[in-house]
Order: sequence, then structure tokens, then C-alpha cells
Amino acid sequence: MSQVRVRFAPSPTGFFHIGSARTALFNWLYARHTGGVFILRVEDTDQSRNSEEFLNVIYGSLKWLGLSWDEGPGIGGAYGPYRQSERSAIYREYLERLKASGRTYEKDGATLFKISGEPQIIEDAIRGRVERTEEKDFVIVRSDGNPVFHFVNVVDDIAMQVTHVIRGEDHLSNTSKHTELFRAFGAPLPVYAHIPLILKQNGPGKMSKRDQGALIEDYQKRGFLPEALVNFLCLLGWSPKEDREKLPIAEIIRLFDLPGINQSNARFDEKKLAHMNSTYLHEMPPDRFFPFVKAFLA
Ligand code: GLU
Repeated sequence: MSQVRVRFAPSPTGFFHIGSARTALFNWLYARHTGGVFILRVEDTDQSRNSEEFLNVIYGSLKWLGLSWDEGPGIGGAYGPYRQSERSAIYREYLERLKASGRTYEKDGATLFKISGEPQIIEDAIRGRVERTEEKDFVIVRSDGNPVFHFVNVVDDIAMQVTHVIRGEDHLSNTSKHTELFRAFGAPLPVYAHIPLILKQNGPGKMSKRDQGALIEDYQKRGFLPEALVNFLCLLGWSPKEDREKLPIAEIIRLFDLPGINQSNARFDEKKLAHMNSTYLHEMPPDRFFPFVKAFLA
């Protein structure tokens, strides 16, 4: 098989939270496990909601967690630029291709995509077989000229030769739109892996950015060790078969694989995270521990 290419594709519209960090981590782990490429792609086409501040928090948190990217902003690569706001020429070119194939039409100033209406079947690496049929043509370029998420997301996955799309389950319902587009471009489908949600500690429902303990930056400020947080995040939805919990990163990379990701939702557990952190702190060699505590107290 050709080299694995995965991407983490955040939209810088809010602070960097646990769910995004875990998605980034699972992509990074899969790339490291397979000897593949981990791409960082910034999905910043929504000008009204993006901010450079949020983007800098994403870069900073990824670096703090040790999730270094192989292609992306600041590094470059053969498939750049890696910010969608800089890729308009590429989107225009792909739009022309769709137009030429007769799969678009204009309505009220917007460009719509003509669906095939065929059942869209994927073999999701986590969820198994998922089938969904689109019933309505959908907008790919708004009347203000901005292309929509579904379009740019798929165009970039094709153009950047992404082989595996590992993302949150909240995107599962978008996938039939995406596979319609892949097929219209005559492009092979990536392998999909939709990761189950993280549930909030107390009560039902998905953990949101507003929940206590949701923001990565807070952990950094509160003196958590990135290794401990990474170890904890791995266990939110994945487990090594031998039922161990504290694992060095090299071991996690060796053991990590998509079939090991659970189908059921994971519940956030702040006590478990605190416990993980204290275990790591206890094992820190003095020559790291003292400077760390000093810097933290300062
Ligand atoms: N920008 C999307 C998000 O942040 C990316 C979705 C995807 O990974 O395909 O949810």
C-alpha cells in the first residue's frame, strides 16, 4: 500500500479543546504507527468566525503536546499552501472541473452540486458499514463567492492525497455529501474512521468547549505535564489490548491502530486525568522536576 497520509483540519473558530486535541492525537499516532505523513491543514474559510488568536492557540497546543506535523503551516510541503484561505485558485480550478462535467448549476447566485442520489456506502474503520443517501442537491459556492465546507474539505483531501480521514463522529452525517463529491471528481475514497464522542463528566451529552476541563491551554497553565495529558487522551476511546493504562509514547505508537478504537462514546474523567498527571510527576527525574516546579510557581 502507498504511504499513509492523514490530516488534522481544525477551524480556528474557538479555543482548542479536548475533542480536537484527541482527533489531532489519533491522526498523529496513526501516522507515526504506519510511518506515514501527518498534515496540518487550517480550515479558515469562514472569515467572520476565524481568528489568528485561536489559530496561534492551536499551533501552541499542538507543539506543547508534542504533535509535530510533517506538512503544514510554517513547514510547507509539496501540497501547500496549507491554509484554506490561501487556496482559492485551487478551489476555482476544481469548480471548473465539476462545471465541465455538468454536475453543477446556478440558483439565486449560488452554485449547487447535482447529487447522484445513489446510496453512499462506506466501510468505516471504526463504525463498520455505514449507508446514507443524499436526497437534495447542495450548495458548494455561496452567492458571496465563498465555497462551503463540504466542497473545500473534499477538494483538499483529494489535492493533498489524503488516504485516511480520521475525525469526530459529528462528521459522520456529512460523509455522504463528501463521497458524492469524491465520486463526481473520479477520485478514490479515503478510508474513513469516525471517532466516538467524548461525553461530559456529569450528565448526558457531548463535552463542549464550555465544559469544565475542556480547554487544553488550561492544563498547560495549571501545571499538567503534556505526556500525562497525551496518555490520558489516548485512553479516551482507544485501549491497548493488554489493559494497561500508563504507557510511554513509543509504546502507544507501536500499539495504536484504528481497529483498537472503541465504538462506544468515552466519558471524560477529570480524576483519572489528575491521577495520571501525578503518576507522571512522581516519576519525573529531579533534574526535570525542580525546574518544572520552579517555572510553575514563578
Ligand atoms: N474543519 C473541520 C472541523 O474542524 C474538519 C472536518 C474534517 O476533519 O473533515 O470539524
